[in-house]
Amino acid sequence: MTSGIIPMIEREYALVREKNADKAKKNIETAMKDPVFFKTETELKSLAFYIAKAEAFDGDQNEAKRLKTRKNELFSERKKILAKLNLTEDDLKISYDCPTCRDTGFYGGKPCKCFRDKWLYYTIDSLGMQPCEYLTFKDDTAKKTENLTKLYRSVKKYVNVFPNAKTHNFLFIGPTGCGKTHLSKIMAGELINRGFNALVATAAELNRIFLKTHLGRYDEKQDYMSALIDFDFLVIDDLGTENEYKNVTCEYFLTLVAERLAKGKHTVITTNLDREELADKYGDRFFSRVTEKRTTAVISFDNVNYRK
Ligand SMILES: [Zn+2]
Repeated sequence: MTSGIIPMIEREYALVREKNADKAKKNIETAMKDPVFFKTETELKSLAFYIAKAEAFDGDQNEAKRLKTRKNELFSERKKILAKLNLTEDDLKISYDCPTCRDTGFYGGKPCKCFRDKWLYYTIDSLGMQPCEYLTFKDDTAKKTENLTKLYRSVKKYVNVFPNAKTHNFLFIGPTGCGKTHLSKIMAGELINRGFNALVATAAELNRIFLKTHLGRYDEKQDYMSALIDFDFLVIDDLGTENEYKNVTCEYFLTLVAERLAKGKHTVITTNLDREELADKYGDRFFSRVTEKRTTAVISFDNVNYRK
């Protein structure tokens, strides 16, 4: 259930913080059981007060110097005792699984990368999907023709200004192995790195979610669909290869695409079908939405000649 994910992640962070605080507390207790360490600690605490007093404006500067030397001696003694106990100074402090957000999930008023990773992982899991592969431009080593280089250049621009590009949606048409999926995985990976929620799902996976939704209870229906609608960026990969479930496949794809369009969310569809086949299979209402001129770029990979 996707609506329970955020409270679940929050509980997870609370447990991590508790675990790390506990670890530090236990280490301090272990060290304090050592009588020499205990004595050193006690002396160090009182020294801090006397050093401050001696260093004060009318204090005894020689005394301050002597006390500081003593403090350094105590510190090295403390270090030796800790080593004997197989501990370090750091073991006595609270550590963090994610030092960036200190295991709070938020950093600078925004969700930390660790939070977004967890959220995506659990969302994909709750949708019953396998974790998908996300790529970046750095992963791309394939030789490209001039047309494809041009396409990559405009996609790079699109990703950099996301979500403010005029184009919101892409329809990648072309035969298998021409690089449609590869490019959409790069778009998704780049957007994730920029802090957006992006999902790459095959049409078959989505179709299974639709079926589950269709057969499920009402609240679940809302939940699964709204999770898919709310992704900033969604790739519907290999549309046309999924089974056709009556009253489900075409209807739910139309709902998904129409709702995302209405919400201004960006969608990439890759397909081996040509325009006529798309219109035939999914209907005119679907076709008019996925080829909507104002916001959609229809790219035929026949003309871009992708080669590995
Ligand atoms: Zn973090």
